Amino acid sequence: MATPILTIVVPCYNEEEVLPETVFRLSSVIDALITDNLVASTSTMLLVDDGSKDATWSLIERFHASNSFVTGLKLARNAGHQSALLSGLMHAKSYSDCVVSIDADLQDDTDVIREFVLKFREGFDIVYGIRQDRSADTFFKRATAQGFYKLMTSLGVKIHYNHADFRLMSKRTLDNLEKFQEVNLFLRGMVPLLGFPSTQVYYTRKERFAGESKYPLRKMLAFAFDGITSFSVTPIRFVTLMGFVLFLLSVVAALYAIIGKLLGANVTGWTSLVLSVWFIGGVQLLALGLIGEYIGKIYKEVKQRPLFVIEKVLKGSAQEQEELSVTPPSIPAASNRR
Ligand code: UDP
Ligand code: MG
Repeated sequence: MATPILTIVVPCYNEEEVLPETVFRLSSVIDALITDNLVASTSTMLLVDDGSKDATWSLIERFHASNSFVTGLKLARNAGHQSALLSGLMHAKSYSDCVVSIDADLQDDTDVIREFVLKFREGFDIVYGIRQDRSADTFFKRATAQGFYKLMTSLGVKIHYNHADFRLMSKRTLDNLEKFQEVNLFLRGMVPLLGFPSTQVYYTRKERFAGESKYPLRKMLAFAFDGITSFSVTPIRFVTLMGFVLFLLSVVAALYAIIGKLLGANVTGWTSLVLSVWFIGGVQLLALGLIGEYIGKIYKEVKQRPLFVIEKVLKGSAQEQEELSVTPPSIPAASNRR
């Protein structure tokens, strides 16, 4: 089997504090893999600057000048973690056989990348990194994250429990991911939809090496909401069901009122009337809000805005050489695949 070209994609948003350590660790991972002949010598890391406001990009340029493993991509504005990651994956797939995505903050175990590569060489197209224990996370983060996975599963969305965006993907899975034209990106929900032979590797998630989370609660909730409404119609079905039940109840209530009137009962029950008006009004508003959410998504999809705009590209010398040569990039033999 020809040694595959590996690219490690790292989205970076205001990561000047961790970047030197991240580059150091990933370089030694790539270096060791090349030494052991597990990946091609043209393997690199692609640092995607997601419109950082600090010195992240100038650091990337500096590392690129001194370290042949470092390549960079600068987005013209902050596109958000998912879009930044996608930009890196789509850029890297043109010259890579497999691509690993990892956060810049070193919470995910960089040593596990070797296991990813070994699994890829065994014939797996997708290798999911699964957090074995989240004791490093705060109680709040752990509880909300776990609740989120449970909710997603109960709503019928296929996601891997305790898997974020630390994974390896082969070139052909990325080629297929590109065909997903959606704008509401939730990659960990989209990747399992691809199929292909896949496996899991377990690791322990650590604390952020330096700096603070770029995912405050507000962004986390928006992300969770996006994940649910992009992948599941269960909430809107629930609203429909609720509407149906209320309709049946109101028929019964109407019959009761008419019979009461015919029997000449007093006009009592004003309280319950007012209450139900409020209740139904509330339910209607809730339903309208949810329908609006879906219509908002349709609107976004219809506009087909580009998710990211690339401003600059720093290429490794290996890539430039490859562009000049006409030989196609080596792809693992099909007979090795399961
Ligand atoms: N990130 C990004 N764009 C953003 C926010 C975050 O590229 O708008 C990157 C960030 O630099 C990091 C990764 O996404 O590499 C995950 O972010 P973070 O570690 O802050 O999230 P957490 O682990 O706290 O959920
Ligand atoms: Mg993090």
